Amino acid sequence: MTDVHLWKAEENGKIKSIAIWNVIRERGQIVSRASLVWSSKIILRHQFILWLAFRGRLSTRDRILAYMDIPDANCVLCSGFAESIDHLLAMGIVSLSGSWEDIKVVAQVLSKGSKFHVNVFKCEFAAIVYHLWAERNTRVFGRVRRNVDHVWNDIVFDCGALIRTWRWVPKGEREWVLCHEWKVNYDEVTSFKCFKVN
Ligand SMILES: [Zn+2]
Repeated sequence: MTDVHLWKAEENGKIKSIAIWNVIRERGQIVSRASLVWSSKIILRHQFILWLAFRGRLSTRDRILAYMDIPDANCVLCSGFAESIDHLLAMGIVSLSGSWEDIKVVAQVLSKGSKFHVNVFKCEFAAIVYHLWAERNTRVFGRVRRNVDHVWNDIVFDCGALIRTWRWVPKGEREWVLCHEWKVNYDEVTSFKCFKVN
């Protein structure tokens, strides 16, 4: 047989732009963390830190030690253990057990879907990672130490502020409990919001 030209971007004799796009584009791998890390239910400021944490790129002292001598490689949150991402996050996220690798897998499973409690989980998870890292940095660079309650208050404040902006929060016992936990007014978020501009 002689060679023939064949248009891969053709469908039923017609050239389609979508087909052309699919032929020429480079396909990236869809990473399983994407739906959690880039969720709109996460505070923007927290997103970047969560992304770094998922990629293991936070500059924890074990990573710094690889290229620089530092006098103290211990964790500033508890002093006594070498600081690594695994130690810092696995110790900080007490609601999920295991290593940071284990927690990442569980967190991805728990963030499937868009129900209210799932969205709250995404927001909470990112806020905890962010504030643990923020507290670590405050202690390293600012030499200010705040206690657990203080850090937790910041987490509740941030999550509550975001949750209050969500529309269509369903009514239910589970939702009531979650609102209570995050200091969100249940009646306010479950009622239909109609803003009137005067
Ligand atoms: Zn520690």
